[in-house]
Amino acid sequence: MRWSKALIPTLKEVPAEAEIISHKLMLKAGLIRKVASGLYNFLPIGFKVYHKIEKIIREEMDRAGALEILMPIMTPAELWIETGRWNLYGKELVRVKDRANREYALGPTHEEVVTDLARTEIRSYRDMPKNFYQIRNKFRDEIRPRFGVMRCREFIMKDAYSFDRNEECAEESYKIMFEAYKKIFTRCGLDFRPVEADTGNIGGSFSHEFMVLANTGEEVIINCPACGYAANREKAEGVSAFCGNDKEESKPLEKVSTPGQHTVEQVTSFLKKTSSELVKTLLYMADGKPVAALVKGDDELNEHKLKNFLKAAELVMMTEQEVEAATKAPVGFAGPVNLSGMKIFADNAVMKMKNFVIGANEKDMHYVNANFERDFKINKFIDLRTAGEGDTCVKCGQILSSLKGIEVGHTFKLGLKYSKAMKAEFLDEDGKRKPMVMGCYGIGVTRIIGAAIEQGNDENGIIWPMALTPYQVIITALNYKEEKVKEIADSVYEEFMAAGIEVILDDRDGSAGFKFKDAELIGIPLRITVGNKAVNEGVFEVKVRKSKEEFTLKREELLSKIKALIEKELTK
Ligand code: ATP
Ligand code: MG
Repeated sequence: MRWSKALIPTLKEVPAEAEIISHKLMLKAGLIRKVASGLYNFLPIGFKVYHKIEKIIREEMDRAGALEILMPIMTPAELWIETGRWNLYGKELVRVKDRANREYALGPTHEEVVTDLARTEIRSYRDMPKNFYQIRNKFRDEIRPRFGVMRCREFIMKDAYSFDRNEECAEESYKIMFEAYKKIFTRCGLDFRPVEADTGNIGGSFSHEFMVLANTGEEVIINCPACGYAANREKAEGVSAFCGNDKEESKPLEKVSTPGQHTVEQVTSFLKKTSSELVKTLLYMADGKPVAALVKGDDELNEHKLKNFLKAAELVMMTEQEVEAATKAPVGFAGPVNLSGMKIFADNAVMKMKNFVIGANEKDMHYVNANFERDFKINKFIDLRTAGEGDTCVKCGQILSSLKGIEVGHTFKLGLKYSKAMKAEFLDEDGKRKPMVMGCYGIGVTRIIGAAIEQGNDENGIIWPMALTPYQVIITALNYKEEKVKEIADSVYEEFMAAGIEVILDDRDGSAGFKFKDAELIGIPLRITVGNKAVNEGVFEVKVRKSKEEFTLKREELLSKIKALIEKELTK
């Protein structure tokens, strides 16, 4: 490609709304342009990077035995109604009507459509295992689209779905995908980590997320440096440092006045206690039914854990009015004593606490010296708190730490969730009809572009891994109008093109500084300068974008040495 013929509209300034570096650089380097909130045009070099990722994914999926198909984006409501997700998905689902008023969803994911396909095409145990995948646009009306391609309303996903005759075979399919994902992200040149994850809207029995490690990541990973345990904070378990002492003698329950003290900090400092001596009572509506959850004052309730435990489709905090109706007191004074009409669950970490502070379900009143059993009963102790840095690892007892990550892939073991709901059955060897055991596997293809930039950048711009770069080499011709320069630059360019190297020739007018700046900004790994030295001495200056290393090569060794450098980077 000749830069003079390309569309690479680099910018000096970027719109203020771009918060994170990858978003800024994608706009600045001319990879994307915003059409509307969460909707982007991919410009030529952005799309080139996309294609490289897509190619790696396709190669590894095919190698793993998955079959590429194409499903429609417009998916009929009837299929979503079969699984109950027409309602469950809520506002994130983009719904459209056709001219006959029939309803459709623009696919945010394709479990329903693919299960419909499987139930007609897979008949016998002999037809399995099968893994179908596609790479195409997905639609999610995200509440807050942000960070450029990271959280869009329309984005490109690779989604795959496996069908097996039993649990054991399904686990094997899951493992094959897990390994394929590791290969994909390694080949993309990303520093990543698979972690245990919550199953969220998709459901199923267990799942892993593939996280690209980056400080700007939205996801918090709790990990154990000692044993390697790693999980998304939504799912992570940890043991709290202070869990009380059940050997302590029970003191009499006492109601105390706490005028105007609502928050944990206010109440505990007023009573001259610490926040770990208080038990918070949090009130929720789970699918319309009230429920109370107790956690230690200095802990955070993990709503994912409560929602999963209750198997609730919807879990929302009670409104002020609902709290008042349930406790007969304003918000801030809820407590488990005499709390009727709902189940009460408490976090494991409060199990051994004695003589703690709780709300008294009365305006401006709390209890001190509350104790389990004597003062109130718990339906069950479960893991409810959000794990954090400094907790001890449930697997090995060492101290946990935390990392930030960007989720680029997600694998789920679905089990029978969709096949049962949609009656996707097959005839097994024993002559019985059984539901297929499913798995599903997503990769955010467009999100990977942002994640790669979050990992590869400096003050001058993007630093692409060789596998994803839009061009492997840039030939920066200084004074291209000069006959000699043009001749040499063109000859190198032609030679590289013929050798299959992905090369861009900067043949524009402009100063050396201006061209070097743009080359750095768009992140091309190797730069060859054709200037006076090349004309007078036959010597070419080469600069490596990542290491900033500079060296010279002679004309005759240029192709072989550059080729070797590219190969080395690609096979790392
Ligand atoms: P998140 O928690 O980030 O919303 P998710 O759990 O909803 O992700 P999945 O349903 O597992 O995502 O989708 C598979 C992959 O698609 C994700 O791992 C992510 O890389 C990508 N993805 C999901 N939502 C978006 C989005 N709004 N924009 C871009 N990529 C997305
Ligand atoms: Mg999501």
